[in-house]
Amino acid sequence: MSAVSEAGAAPGLYVHVPFCDRVCPYCDFAVQTGGPRQRDAYLRSLLQEIRCWADRGVGPTGSLGSASGRDPEALRWEPGQAFDSVYLGGGTPSSLALDALEQILAALRGGLPVAEDAELTLEANPEDISDHRLAAWRSLGVSRLSLGVQSFDPAALDLLGRSHTPRQAIAAIERSMAAGFDAVSLDLIFAVPGQTVASWEASLQRAVELRPHHISCYELTVHPGTRFFRARQRGGFLEVSDDHKAEQFFVTHRFLAAAGYPAYEVSNFARRPEFRSRHNAKYWDHTAYLGLGPSAHSYDGRHQRWWNEPRLIDWQSALDGAGSGVLEVETLTPEQRVLEALALGLRTTAGVDLEHMAGLYGIDLRPSNATLVESLAERGLLEGGSGQRLVPTLEGLALADTLAAAFEIPTGADKASTGPDKVSTGADEVPSSAKRASARASGIDATWRGAVLGGNRP
Ligand code: SF4
Repeated sequence: MSAVSEAGAAPGLYVHVPFCDRVCPYCDFAVQTGGPRQRDAYLRSLLQEIRCWADRGVGPTGSLGSASGRDPEALRWEPGQAFDSVYLGGGTPSSLALDALEQILAALRGGLPVAEDAELTLEANPEDISDHRLAAWRSLGVSRLSLGVQSFDPAALDLLGRSHTPRQAIAAIERSMAAGFDAVSLDLIFAVPGQTVASWEASLQRAVELRPHHISCYELTVHPGTRFFRARQRGGFLEVSDDHKAEQFFVTHRFLAAAGYPAYEVSNFARRPEFRSRHNAKYWDHTAYLGLGPSAHSYDGRHQRWWNEPRLIDWQSALDGAGSGVLEVETLTPEQRVLEALALGLRTTAGVDLEHMAGLYGIDLRPSNATLVESLAERGLLEGGSGQRLVPTLEGLALADTLAAAFEIPTGADKASTGPDKVSTGADEVPSSAKRASARASGIDATWRGAVLGGNRP
């Protein structure tokens, strides 16, 4: 995986399913419990949104009209290739009725240029797994299953408000592994209050014994608006110290590497390179993706990002009224794009090739950051080397956002490789677009968390 994509890399397609049977106390995704009527209305709106993009001619030669905000004419989509990944995230896509899933996939394949061999990921909760559903998902072309296991410790599952038991999770994994998917991935959460290093290691041990193709580990983060956040405000939340979080982060990486699951990104580990997530790599590689559904984000691979209305009802009204669910469009400057590519690339073990980046964006970071790069290598945060490729060490991965924020970005593409006209990129100056992209890249599809590192995932 290259940390900065080649121009013209195939784009990805993301669909946000905003329903869960119940809302977990740490979750700040755009989700809700939804009855049959809301689910039917969502399906109608999603099919409408797919048609909207299809009518605008998304395709190898397609260019989306124009306009800003909700005016579809503001947006352009010219990545030049068919989508080679489709990701159904949420929310809980596995709770979708099979005929609804079938309609969504038929609409995507019929209306948009989806490659025949596209990776097709479905996020699933253990309690939704049955042999019947697994077979149906396989027959619909799902190639990758991402299971929201979170923990094998009953106390942690209880605290996280999950409705499955460790036994159910193990059965779901075993059934999923036997169903013939190209890859089965487990999501786990660490830094759970009350969780000891020993109990976290026991969860990791249980995970590797089941031999999934891929494991993602996210740090529990308490976000505003969640039940955990309110509990914290009332003084009823057991805080996990930064030292304990850091210890669990390093334990995670060392344990999984020793067990044959080397990291390829801050939160992602694969048994073999072919088991890595093709779709999520697009976020880290700065490749284009189109997001559909409430709160979904999109990036044209060039200089525009846009995101949909986060609330289901607002997204539906916007589609009905303006013919587009888009809430806002952001145009990135070359400096923002470079900073994004840096922040995202430094999350990966492949790192960032500065020469390649200079060719791609017209901004060369080497002259103005040579001393910084040397100092980061001396402090053990970057691998030593020529300074052309920045490769984070494990300690560097733990601080990926901070590393990116320390760089100086020359202002103006025409000033590449030159001089003094620079901006310092303190942490507060990381563009919102970079944070959004990074939040997506950490597996937090569709909702901007406002934090570059960490975060949890359904
Ligand atoms: S954490 Fe996952 S399962 Fe829980 S409410 Fe959020 S999206 Fe749903």
